[in-house]
Amino acid sequence: MGQKPEFQYVDEHFDEFVSELRAAVRQPSIAAQNVGMVEAAEYFTGLLERYGIHARSIATDGGYPVVYGEIKGDSDRTVLFYDHYDVQPPDPLNEWVSDPFAGEVRDGKMYARGVSDNKGNACARIQAVGTLLRLRGGRLPVTVKFLIEGEEEIGSPHLEGFIRDHADLLRADCGVWESGYIGADGRPGMYLGVKGILYVELEARGAERDMHSAAAANVPNPAWRLIWALSTIKNEAEEILIPGFYDAVRPPTEREMELLRAEEAAREAASSQRERQWRGGNIGIHSPLLELRGLELRKRALFSPTANVCGFRSGYIGEGQKTVLPSKALVKMDFRLVPDQDPADILQKLQAHLRAKGFDDIAVRPVTMDHPVKTSADHPVVKAAQEAALAVYGLPASVAPTQGGSGPMYPFTKYLDLPMVAFGVGYWASGNHGPNENIRLDDYRQGIKMAMEFLDRV
Ligand SMILES: [Zn+2]
Repeated sequence: MGQKPEFQYVDEHFDEFVSELRAAVRQPSIAAQNVGMVEAAEYFTGLLERYGIHARSIATDGGYPVVYGEIKGDSDRTVLFYDHYDVQPPDPLNEWVSDPFAGEVRDGKMYARGVSDNKGNACARIQAVGTLLRLRGGRLPVTVKFLIEGEEEIGSPHLEGFIRDHADLLRADCGVWESGYIGADGRPGMYLGVKGILYVELEARGAERDMHSAAAANVPNPAWRLIWALSTIKNEAEEILIPGFYDAVRPPTEREMELLRAEEAAREAASSQRERQWRGGNIGIHSPLLELRGLELRKRALFSPTANVCGFRSGYIGEGQKTVLPSKALVKMDFRLVPDQDPADILQKLQAHLRAKGFDDIAVRPVTMDHPVKTSADHPVVKAAQEAALAVYGLPASVAPTQGGSGPMYPFTKYLDLPMVAFGVGYWASGNHGPNENIRLDDYRQGIKMAMEFLDRV
């Protein structure tokens, strides 16, 4: 098959690309444990430079450095790639078939912590730009910038400040988000946004210390306080009852619903499979909440905010019985938010709601806040990515207007006004954050070509 010389180059040099990826994953870089962070930043700075991309490591205010790369292109347009060089801890170690930092290849897949999330994408994009530079005498169709941070897996505490302080350096016309996944149907998956998050701890306190449960006749129980408080936050119809909670929710646009409908139509077979999964229950659940199916299920997943209890701790939960009246109760909750909900505003509304319901004794402590973001599905960058995907994969991309999870996309919108599209080298079973994280090397090869094709078309 006649293909672009750049693609042929990728095929001919693929072993080199894979060894560079293996070297990247062999360097542990666990932000949560401060393991190998400096070395990993050096590796990526070096990789950028090896391909002729000007690179440096820029200190953040007390955090891990950001690796920054830049190379001028022929047009006045600029693309910014966002990736991260840190990874999650590899635990539980005994569930890995091979060493999480070996990068072993089995059955055409490379297994390593961070190979999908996110070193595979970072390497593929650098190699794509590097290949274009090599084959075209150092010229690129657009200016390319790389922002590779080292704190994504610990909540990106310094990213917003970094983007704010370096807004001029980072200025671009569009951005490519860290990851995207090939679906079970073989189509490249893309998404255009993230949900926001408000993570809080609620704590109720009772007596100074745990007491004999005989005291329950007279002494208030903080576990009950917390349960009653929680029951005012959401009802059994899945409605969140905090006044004003839904005020800022923007309903999906006609174009977004069109994307969802196209998706449902294209995945009819897969979707009935999914419905069977709900009935048969590969997660042990007989029906999704509210018994939703098909389009409605998907719409709710992407466009509805949630109020979720992550954990609840109080009193005695060891073996057997202990008749105790606990002195405190703690719950951890996350609210996944959709545009244009503001996590700080939701926090205030939650606090006001608890006060109004008579629960002002319950302490509310925010842990994490991230704004939701959506790129308009009509933006030309989305079209460029779709065209590139069709050219590389021979299949139409499956484009999700947003995703159920969260990520630090908001500062890119706030300070750089950057439309973002996400595509990448992972696949539906990459198992990010879990044991045996992996990517298929064929997807890796295609991912390099995809990044090149995107730069040619954007
Ligand atoms: Zn991750």
